[in-house]
Amino acid sequence: MDTSPARTNFIRDIIDADLAGRRHTTVATRFPPEPNGYLHVGHAKSICLNFGIARDYGGTCNLRFDDTNPEKESEEFEQSIADDVRWLGFDWADRYYHASDYFEQLHAYAVQLIQDGKAYVDSLTADEIRRYRGTLTEPGRDSPYRTRPVAENLELFARMRAGEFADGTHVLRAKIDMAAANINLRDPTLYRIRKTTHHRTGGDWYIYPMYDYTHSISDALEHITHSLCTLEFEDHRPLYDWVLEQLPVPSRPQQIEFARLEVNYTITSKRKLHALVHEGLVSGWDDPRLPTLKGLRRRGCPPEALRDFCERVGVTKKQTIIDVGVLENCIREQLDRSAPRVMAVLDPVKLVIENYPEGLVEDMAAQNHPKDESFGTRTVPFSRELYVERDDFMEDPPKKFFRLGPGREVRLRYGYLVTCTNFIKNDAGEVVEIRCTYDPATRGGNAPDGRQVKGTIHWVSAAHAVDTEVRLYDRLFDVEDPGAAADFRAHLNPHSMTVVSDAKLEPMLANAAPETRFQFERLGYFCADRVDHQPGRPVYNRTVTLKDTWAKVADKKG
Ligand code: ATP
Ligand code: MG
Repeated sequence: MDTSPARTNFIRDIIDADLAGRRHTTVATRFPPEPNGYLHVGHAKSICLNFGIARDYGGTCNLRFDDTNPEKESEEFEQSIADDVRWLGFDWADRYYHASDYFEQLHAYAVQLIQDGKAYVDSLTADEIRRYRGTLTEPGRDSPYRTRPVAENLELFARMRAGEFADGTHVLRAKIDMAAANINLRDPTLYRIRKTTHHRTGGDWYIYPMYDYTHSISDALEHITHSLCTLEFEDHRPLYDWVLEQLPVPSRPQQIEFARLEVNYTITSKRKLHALVHEGLVSGWDDPRLPTLKGLRRRGCPPEALRDFCERVGVTKKQTIIDVGVLENCIREQLDRSAPRVMAVLDPVKLVIENYPEGLVEDMAAQNHPKDESFGTRTVPFSRELYVERDDFMEDPPKKFFRLGPGREVRLRYGYLVTCTNFIKNDAGEVVEIRCTYDPATRGGNAPDGRQVKGTIHWVSAAHAVDTEVRLYDRLFDVEDPGAAADFRAHLNPHSMTVVSDAKLEPMLANAAPETRFQFERLGYFCADRVDHQPGRPVYNRTVTLKDTWAKVADKKG
């Protein structure tokens, strides 16, 4: 796990004060996803915050599915969320809960609110309720049903539960204050009728509790001490507290709000992510260009990098937009430490060594990690015909080009020094073969006479190369804030994926397990695709380039 000490933040300060003041003796948090979509990078922040606090304070963090909207929720989403939390490196032990686990208790509390005169059945239509609610500048008006006698409310609520009424005909509302400055306190809905089956409770219920009511009580039932949520719930806190003050709940959690994580060149709106997936604009929820955890994972992002990122962006109350370059750098730093180096040629052109014996194959020793000896070494086959990168050769190179060109000498990494003697073009004028000679005294790459050769290029032996598909990914959008555009679809980056179908890899890459990550020397970090990579049919995804190419563009502009 992460070795750096957790950074402090205002939430940790509150917890420290609560523990010092003996308001709490333990810390209990929860991560409460709704199983109506896949988790994304924003959720990672909430997961790292909640589970991170539990870890650092020796407390607990529950995984709780907020499953109160049966139409939009499913087992598939629930499973995928649980998998993602585990992949990110967190463990809820046996604290795996659902709001639906509490439906009976939530209902009993609602009955109690009715008995206490604090809730009533309203029979206005949804439109009427909206009109009665008033606006930010005008108070609301009482519903004509607000004064219904308790007995009538109890009877109607029982019939709502029994399924006697159609959706939308009645709701249960809290009786708070239709003139409250905070609109959330203008008799908020506690229950609505939904004649839909629920992925866990099936057909047991015809009424479902609303989020604010459910969330506060679920927190209290689970003895959550600090209920951390995003800033848009700040205005809901008075309702959260109101519910808990009216009821004999077993504990009193405290809601604390923090700023959402927003990342540029990215969208995290669930609705827009759904649109991208369902309109076929990406290949699925795990498309490596998406900011979903499934997408980041498939792209090759290590979970450690994502945790590091969440730690670095910190937790505040001020809404900011984080540069996606920060995430990419966290990925680079993590992979620089953890990814073994290999050689791969993405845009191959043949290099023939005229004076190298036909049929000879030498095993060249190569380091797996130049900065970390514990990665060990491997051997790479070297032979007369190799592949090198097309752009490592120039027919008429400028002086400062230290790679291949007529008469130029270059180092083949872990191989020999070679000097270009000639090149062959096809009818279309493309270079199809580079000819050279090697200096047999330079095995390993150094000249015994001490002559300096600046350039080093990578290569793969042609006879041993593994043909591979490599997918080069880039940012999905080409504007910083696609979410703000009239239509985010208009800003999809047309170059967000390039498929290279004839890349050449060194042999050991053919049999790497899916999700194994490598640095392809000089090219970037790559990961064996989780879904399509198979023995005999390797597929690699580019996770990130070695350098931030977008920053360069920005620098040039600036
Ligand atoms: P919605 O509620 O609109 O369906 P949501 O993104 O809030 O979408 P939830 O499943 O309710 O999705 O989120 C679970 C938890 O993750 C919540 O506590 C929420 O506040 C938190 N969360 C969601 N998006 C972000 C984000 N961008 N940054 C930080 N936390 C987030
Ligand atoms: Mg939410």
